[in-house]
Amino acid sequence: MLYQTHARIHLDAIRHNLTGIREAAGDAQVLMAVKADAYGHGAPAVARDVEAAGLVDRFGVATVPEGIELREAGVRLPILKLSHAFPEEVDAALEADLELAVVDQDGVEAVERAAESRGITAPVHLKVDTGMGRIGVRPDAAVDLAARIEESPHLHLLGVFTHCPVSDAPAQDVFTGGQIRLFTETVQAIEARVGRSIELVHMANSGAVLGHPDAYFTMVRPGIMTYGYYPDATTPHSIDLRPAVTWSTRISFVKQVRAGETVGYGRTWTADRDTWVGTIPVGYGDGYDRHLSNRGTVLVGGRRLPIVGRVCMDQSMIDLGPEPSARVGDEVLLLGTSGSESYTASDMAADLGTISYEITCSMAGRVTRVYT
Ligand code: PLP
Repeated sequence: MLYQTHARIHLDAIRHNLTGIREAAGDAQVLMAVKADAYGHGAPAVARDVEAAGLVDRFGVATVPEGIELREAGVRLPILKLSHAFPEEVDAALEADLELAVVDQDGVEAVERAAESRGITAPVHLKVDTGMGRIGVRPDAAVDLAARIEESPHLHLLGVFTHCPVSDAPAQDVFTGGQIRLFTETVQAIEARVGRSIELVHMANSGAVLGHPDAYFTMVRPGIMTYGYYPDATTPHSIDLRPAVTWSTRISFVKQVRAGETVGYGRTWTADRDTWVGTIPVGYGDGYDRHLSNRGTVLVGGRRLPIVGRVCMDQSMIDLGPEPSARVGDEVLLLGTSGSESYTASDMAADLGTISYEITCSMAGRVTRVYT
């Protein structure tokens, strides 16, 4: 089948990236964040592939339906819901054999009740807020909450974790270093109180995997780097990464535009010379950001060409230049490598003033994912 606009997901690139992470992580386990449909790459196919390759120990999702989707796809490895569940979600989460994060007494009781009524012992991970300021128990209250979990016959304190807001920014290493110390002390205090070591102690997102080996503890939790992107241009490029998506389409229409004529809604682009303009069947309905109007770059036959006029819902236009240098059916890369030119999600993110995460997550459902 011929897909006019599709995202080719290079599973070998994801495997390459995970291999580098495993080497760096040593004995630490690897939880791969596959939330938000594996950052837009398609969670079921990605998770099945890396599970079969034996490259990860656990998956991380954001929502209960994301976890259920993985189970329905046949994923067998443990799955942690990284953010805590609302009480009414807990039973469905346990039904799908998800591990849950807990952040407070109410949450602990909700999981305990659901586990008791199912006659099981539910594994939980206690989230400690050491500086992210999003969710988590304060470090000074973490030991009591851990002890409360430990005393319950229906709960198993499997993990203790925290999250880093600036691990990708070397300029703020002092803050991350302080978090690592505070987290280490908190875990030590928890272990002293419960009288055993905690199996899964985890903190390192991609920024920390790349720049803070002292944050590895017993498990690392990378997301964006598994898909081939450094979280920030300043993050140490200490592991070789390959972008895992090529987003492409084909030219659907070519026409000559005379100097002085305009292109697209709002007539925001005027040809300053006679030129050829190609139309591509991609627009903001595909997640191709409308801010790329008169600003975006695409690759055609190894050349970088500009988006001209406004990005429409389903179509956009590109300036091919004074010669009719491309034809209907020619491949156009929105993200990828063509000849010696490359334009990645990080490049598009820089053009848009955002992060690569948002670019890959934004590729809409109608962009067919093809796995290679
Ligand atoms: N852990 C948690 C709790 C997260 O929320 C995320 C993603 O935001 C990750 C790990 C993975 O982070 P990154 O994609 O920066 O590696």
